[in-house]
Amino acid sequence: MAGPRRGAGNVSRARRDVIVVGGGPAGSTAAALLAEAGHDVLLLERERFPRFHVGESLLPIDIPLLERLGVRLAEGPYRYKRGADFLDEQTGDFARYNFADGLDGTPDHAFQVERSLFDAALLDAARTRGADVRMAEPVRSVAVAPEVVRVESAGGVHEARYLVDASGQSALLAKQWGGVAPIPEFGRAAAFRHYRGVAPQVADELGREGNIQVLMLPDGWAWVIPLHGDTVSIGVVRRRALRPEELDREVADSPHLSRITAGARPGDAHRISNFSYRNTEPSGARYCCVGDAACFLDPVFSSGVALAMLGAETAVGLLSPALAARSEDEPSLMKPWRGHMDVIYRSFSALIHRFYHTRMIDNLFFAERPDPAIRRGLITVLSGDVWRDDNPFQQLLERSRRGERLDRSQAR
Ligand SMILES: Cc1cc2nc3c(=O)[nH]c(=O)nc-3n(C[C@H](O)[C@H](O)[C@H](O)COP(=O)(O)OP(=O)(O)OC[C@H]3O[C@@H](n4cnc5c(N)ncnc54)[C@H](O)[C@@H]3O)c2cc1C
Repeated sequence: MAGPRRGAGNVSRARRDVIVVGGGPAGSTAAALLAEAGHDVLLLERERFPRFHVGESLLPIDIPLLERLGVRLAEGPYRYKRGADFLDEQTGDFARYNFADGLDGTPDHAFQVERSLFDAALLDAARTRGADVRMAEPVRSVAVAPEVVRVESAGGVHEARYLVDASGQSALLAKQWGGVAPIPEFGRAAAFRHYRGVAPQVADELGREGNIQVLMLPDGWAWVIPLHGDTVSIGVVRRRALRPEELDREVADSPHLSRITAGARPGDAHRISNFSYRNTEPSGARYCCVGDAACFLDPVFSSGVALAMLGAETAVGLLSPALAARSEDEPSLMKPWRGHMDVIYRSFSALIHRFYHTRMIDNLFFAERPDPAIRRGLITVLSGDVWRDDNPFQQLLERSRRGERLDRSQAR
């Protein structure tokens, strides 16, 4: 692995307990919880917040952790989200999945968030808990040695006992040692933008449930996310390369999307591609990668922020006592974390695979007479609550990974 360049600035004053690279949901959560536990944490973020970021629809499973971090979305400029709507303009199919209809014990709501505001609030939670947060300080390289971690950033060279790589799609460590394994069978490219000033009746209509809408398109899908006030986020995801103009064509061609955006002011168009991959070595002696730096599946079921925050929380649960016991250099420290996170990665991968490669949406999501127990279980998985043993849908999902056809068992 490449080490820091020589003469690249001064080594900072003290060896930190932990350096966190990246101040997105994964990095802020890790830094906040570590600092709260009394560890000396330095967080280095490349950008100056607030900054635009994709990934605006949260899941109910995020709610208890947000409460633990003291981030009260109900009191801020965020949209209460009751669930998800799936629609197909070609066939007229429509299905609403409200979280309140899931199994008991899972929170019944989530939020839609403008990430510039949400990420700044999370980063504040890290700062107020005592993390040393430095913005506009990109990390250039990292060297993980047996005795110490050295990080070279725009501000100099920093040392720590442990590194948390939360650099998102930049996947700092994985790229440094060639450990990025693409997941070619999921979504490949997305184009998206915000629309401000949508008509009051449209804002009212979308805001009533606050649901994300997933609109099936002939060769992909689109999201509609009602943000706070009169702002809506719209994006198109395809399994092939996508030019920003295609977003506008898709919006113009769709009666539903053109009605939502009529008279609204389009913001800047953004584009991202090849976002589905996993890091082949997400943890080892003195480091772990959390959030997108560990893996990103696909945006269709809005699982990214939940995976990032829960992954960080679980990693800290192991790291914090190890720092206290000075055993953080143990290479297998994060093994239980990998096992725990594997449950949620497996569940969402199974759903996403079926979304792109089977008729699951027609046969299960749009089913006219769904089995009530299966429907409740599906909603619970869509909420991100996958660590329970009373969910018949999840058991079916697990079994179907071993060869049984999920969608056939749910045929209309
Ligand atoms: C098209 C699309 C739509 C999506 N929609 C949703 C959705 O609706 N809901 C959802 O939950 N998720 C969604 N996601 C996923 C979501 O965006 C991510 O999973 C989530 O942001 C991951 O959080 P993170 O903290 O790991 O990374 P990020 O949020 O990307 O944060 C990483 C941070 O690290 C910083 N950084 C990077 N490199 C460096 C460096 N070298 N030095 C210092 N700092 C650095 C970056 O500036 C950034 O602030 C979507 C993703 C895509 C591609």
